[in-house]
Amino acid sequence: MHYDIETLAVRAGYEQTAEQENSEAIFPTSSFRYHSAAQAAARFSGQEKGNVYSRFTNPTVRTFENRLALMEGGESCVGTASGMSAILSTFMGLCQAGDHVVSSQSIFGTTKVLFTKYLAKFGLEVTFVSQTDIGEWQQAIKPNTKAFFLETPSNPLTEVADLEALSTLAKANNCLLIVDNCFCSPILQRPLEQGADIVIHSATKFLDGQGRAIGGAVVGSAELIEEPVRGFMRTAGPAMSPFNAWIFLKGLETLPVRMRAHCENALELAKWLSQHAAVEQVFYPGLESHPQYALAQKQQSAGGGLVTFRVKGGQPEAWSVIDSTQMLSITANLGDVKTIITHPATTTHSRVSPEDRLKAGITDNLIRISVGLESIEDIKRDLARGLDRLLTNK
Ligand SMILES: *Cc1c(COP(=O)(O)O)cnc(C)c1O
Repeated sequence: MHYDIETLAVRAGYEQTAEQENSEAIFPTSSFRYHSAAQAAARFSGQEKGNVYSRFTNPTVRTFENRLALMEGGESCVGTASGMSAILSTFMGLCQAGDHVVSSQSIFGTTKVLFTKYLAKFGLEVTFVSQTDIGEWQQAIKPNTKAFFLETPSNPLTEVADLEALSTLAKANNCLLIVDNCFCSPILQRPLEQGADIVIHSATKFLDGQGRAIGGAVVGSAELIEEPVRGFMRTAGPAMSPFNAWIFLKGLETLPVRMRAHCENALELAKWLSQHAAVEQVFYPGLESHPQYALAQKQQSAGGGLVTFRVKGGQPEAWSVIDSTQMLSITANLGDVKTIITHPATTTHSRVSPEDRLKAGITDNLIRISVGLESIEDIKRDLARGLDRLLTNK
């Protein structure tokens, strides 16, 4: 039976209990009981399928995993304690000392630190290349290259990576294409259908969508996920809690409507900012002025919920726009129903050296907005206060 993604989001992956509940049950239990010693032995040996211990499997977590796997079009999914532990579990499960990874340089800052400070200690070598220059990816490939890694669109400049071209290159060189799909979610983009081998999520962002819990997930074929990634997760232990899994399940139910509303507000805001005299440049994949507009149109069903822009001026001007807001949340999270305003250069990217920041285009006058679901007119009014003041102060 085929169901559309809106239906999967609401109903997929759940097995009702004997209580015949309509909303999914939570199973906050660390272990599971057996009818007999023989059954316990069979469960432990794997002869009989079933729950043993919640670090391995838990019914609420499994419902979340089943639902997200179906929504991403993957065979298997493993839920994790955070987005970072999803990334860690993927590389610990699938790579070994001496392996090489080619990664976009435009990735989440903490992921970069995980590669360069920690995974490097265990002999994983990573080369960082341009998100958008396929030639750089090709040149970086070595005989021991095991995987490509990227996020698209990137944070904060919304550069779009060409998934089809990169998956062709990866396949030709016998490496895996691993995509962090946090920004688009399966509603806007399904990388597995475009040739990726693995999709990673920070469930903390749009999947929850209401800023309540930390979690992550890895989706792909059973071969890549079950033994390597789930095997690492259940041994090392960054398991998703059943309470958080339940929150993410409830988040998935409204993900299709929320993503559509985020994108609608974001496009409207991007257009409005483009016409404001105090704004120098706007970055949004749904704007025709975006350098990869055509590619974004092809591989995403909408532009996404993040809009980044440069104000005319430098850090004082950017900070004054941020400090003039009265409603927006000044924080560094994203993918929330509440609109969030961030100054990347002094927060999310403050640990990057000034030269690398500049090379990556993260200038001091750059502001990132994670567009929420408030009235778009209220969001504009809140930003107009600071932006208009920049004009009258001149
Ligand atoms: C937030 C984020 C992560 C890390 O997720 P956590 O849930 O905070 O561990 C990874 N990738 C991207 C793109 C993110 O935005």
